[in-house]
Amino acid sequence: MSSSPSRQTLRGLATARGFVAGPVFVYRGDGDAPVPEYVVEEDEVVSLARAVTETKRDLENLVAALRERSVRGGERIFEAHLMLLEDPMIVSEAESRIRKDRLNAEAAVRRTVDKARELFARMNDPYLRERTRDLDDVERRILRALAGMGGGPRLELRTPSVIVANDLTPSETVLLPRDCVLGFAMNGGSTTSHVALLARAMGVPAVSGLGDVTGRVRAGDTVLLDGTNGTVTLNPSAAEIMEFRDLVERQMEITEEASLGYPAGTLRGGGEVKLEANLHPGVPTDDVMAHGARGIGLYRSEYLWFSLEREPTEDEQAAAYGEAAAFAASLGPDAAVTIRALDVGGDKAMRGISVREANPFLGNRSIRYLLSHRDVFRTQLRAILRASASGRVRLMYPMVSCVEELRGAAEVLAEARGDLDAAGVAYDANMRVGMMVEVPSAAINAAAFAKLVDFFSIGTNDLVQYVMAADRGNDSVANLYQPTNPAVLRLVRETVAAAKARGIPVSVCGESASDPVVGILWAAMGVDALSMPATYIPVISKLLSRLSRADLDELLAASAAPGDGASGGEVMEACRSWLAARIPDIGNIVL
Ligand code: PEP
Ligand code: MG
Repeated sequence: MSSSPSRQTLRGLATARGFVAGPVFVYRGDGDAPVPEYVVEEDEVVSLARAVTETKRDLENLVAALRERSVRGGERIFEAHLMLLEDPMIVSEAESRIRKDRLNAEAAVRRTVDKARELFARMNDPYLRERTRDLDDVERRILRALAGMGGGPRLELRTPSVIVANDLTPSETVLLPRDCVLGFAMNGGSTTSHVALLARAMGVPAVSGLGDVTGRVRAGDTVLLDGTNGTVTLNPSAAEIMEFRDLVERQMEITEEASLGYPAGTLRGGGEVKLEANLHPGVPTDDVMAHGARGIGLYRSEYLWFSLEREPTEDEQAAAYGEAAAFAASLGPDAAVTIRALDVGGDKAMRGISVREANPFLGNRSIRYLLSHRDVFRTQLRAILRASASGRVRLMYPMVSCVEELRGAAEVLAEARGDLDAAGVAYDANMRVGMMVEVPSAAINAAAFAKLVDFFSIGTNDLVQYVMAADRGNDSVANLYQPTNPAVLRLVRETVAAAKARGIPVSVCGESASDPVVGILWAAMGVDALSMPATYIPVISKLLSRLSRADLDELLAASAAPGDGASGGEVMEACRSWLAARIPDIGNIVL
C-alpha cells in the first residue's frame, strides 16, 4: 500500500455507466494472506473437523437469513458453498494431508484449495473458472474458523463508499449493504463477474481491470469514479470533486426528470420508440418500474439454470416465467415479457450442459443445443406456454442461423402445445414467436426469416462480434469490436428493412441500445423498440424526447456521410457531432 498524494487517473474497463465521487472502502479480503505452515506433532484433524462444522453452521444460518430477507438467488451461492464443503476434493483431501504430511490444519487447507483452484483456473469454460471465487470464499471461512474468528469475512461497510477491491467473491457481493455502495473499482474483473452483473443491476457505476487500484488508495481517500469512460481519479483537487459532485447531481436530476415527465421513448412532435428493460431472474425489478419501461424486451432465461446450477424443473420454470409475466402486466396495458429460450454456450458456458469444444462461440450453443436436446427444449416451451396464459408472454429463439432451426423449433413447440392440450392446461394460442438476429447469416437473409416469425430482436452484442470476428469479452481486440462499423450498420439497416417490408416489429436488445449515440442511431434506423438495463432508460428517453422523426432521418444521413470506407470510430464521431449540434445542451443529458 502506498500513500501517493499526487493526482492520478487510472484507466480500466467501463463496466457500468455513471459517475460517483466518494470515499473509498478498500477491501483486500484475507484470501491471499500468507498462511503459516509447520509440522505438528498432534493430529489436527479434530481442529479441522471442528472448523468445518462451524463453517457449515454459519453457512446454513446465512442461507436461512437470506431466504427470510428474500434476497432471491443469494442463498444459492451459499448452498453451493455447502456443497463444496461436502466435496471429498476439499475436506477429505485436507485431512489426508494433515495425516500424511503432519501439516497444521491451515496449511493443509491452503494447499488443498490451491490445488483445486489451479484445476478450476485451467478450465476452458469461463463459468467454471469463475467458480474459483467460490473456493476462495469457502477457504476464507474455514481459515477464519480455525483462527477462532468464525462467521466468515465481512465487509464492515457503514458509510456510503466506493468499494475498491481486487475482486469480490459472490458471497461478499450478496452481503453488501446496498445503500452503502456508491460504486465499484476493481483490480481485476471480467464480463461474467458477479460484480459486473450486480453493478449494472443496482445501477451503480463500476470500473474493472484497473490493475492495482487497491495498492494506490487508502481507506477514506476520495476518488472520482467514471463508469461511463472507465476511469478512476485518485487524489482529485477540491475543485474537481465539486465539479464531479455537480455531475452526479445533474445525472440524478436527469434520471428523475426523464422518469417522470412523459412515457419513455416519446419523440418530439409525436411518435415513439418503445423503451423496454432487459431482465433476468434474480435481478431487482424496482428500477424497471421506476424508469418507465414499457415491457421486458429480453428475459434471459438461462439465469435460472445458472442460479440453480442445474436444470430447473418445468414447474420451477413456469413459476419464474409466470412471475415475469405478472410483473410485465404491471408495466402497462399492452406490456409483455419476451422470454428468450435457453441461451447457453459460448461465453455462457454451464457445468453439466457445456461440453469442451475447440471453438465454443461457434459451437453447439443456444438454439443448436436446444434442438439437440429436445426434451430440455420441450420442457422449457411447455413452461413458457403455461406462463403465456396471461396473454403477456412472447417467445424468442436465440442464435438462429438458418431456417431449418426455425422449422425444428416450430415442431417442438407444436409438441409442447400437444402435451398441454392433452393435459387440459391453458395457454395463449396466439403467443407471438420471434427470433434474435445476432448471427450474420440471419441478418443477411432477414427477408426469408421475416416470413417465419412474428418479430425480430437484434442482438448487437453477438452480431458485432460475429461480423467483426472480435470476441466480445476479449479486451485485446476491443478496438475491433465496433457497433458502428459500416458492415454492422448495413446488416442492422437491412434487417430493419426486411422486418418493415413484412410488417413485423423489430427491436434491438444488445447493450448498444443503451448507448447514447448508438441507441439513438438504431432508433433513426427505424427500430420499433430498444431494450436495455432499466437504469439506462432515462437518458435514452430524454434524448429521444428532444428529437423528431425528421431529426432522426437527418441523423441517419449523417451516419452515412462518412461512406462505406469509414471506420467505426469515424461513423461514431459523425453521429456524435450531429447529436451535439442538434441538442446543444446534450452535455446536460449525457454526462
Ligand atoms: C446479444 O447478443 O446482443 C444479446 C442481447 O444476447 P446476450 O448478450 O445474452 O448474448
Ligand atoms: Mg446474444
